[in-house]
Amino acid sequence: MSGCGMLLTEYVERGFHVKEIKVKCGDTSPTGYPWQCEKCAEINKDRDWRREAMENGENFDDEY
Ligand SMILES: [Zn+2]
Repeated sequence: MSGCGMLLTEYVERGFHVKEIKVKCGDTSPTGYPWQCEKCAEINKDRDWRREAMENGENFDDEY
């Protein structure tokens, strides 16, 4: 958990429409990066999510 749990309003594209969704700060977004409120984004701006995931045992294959 990387966020504070604050409820955020995010907008995601669904075809021609933009859908408003409610997410919690720290939840993982469809891009693999966590949703974050402005405060947490500022705190975590230097974090390398990819490297942290690898250190947690998740492997990314760069050799496509
Ligand atoms: Zn937050």
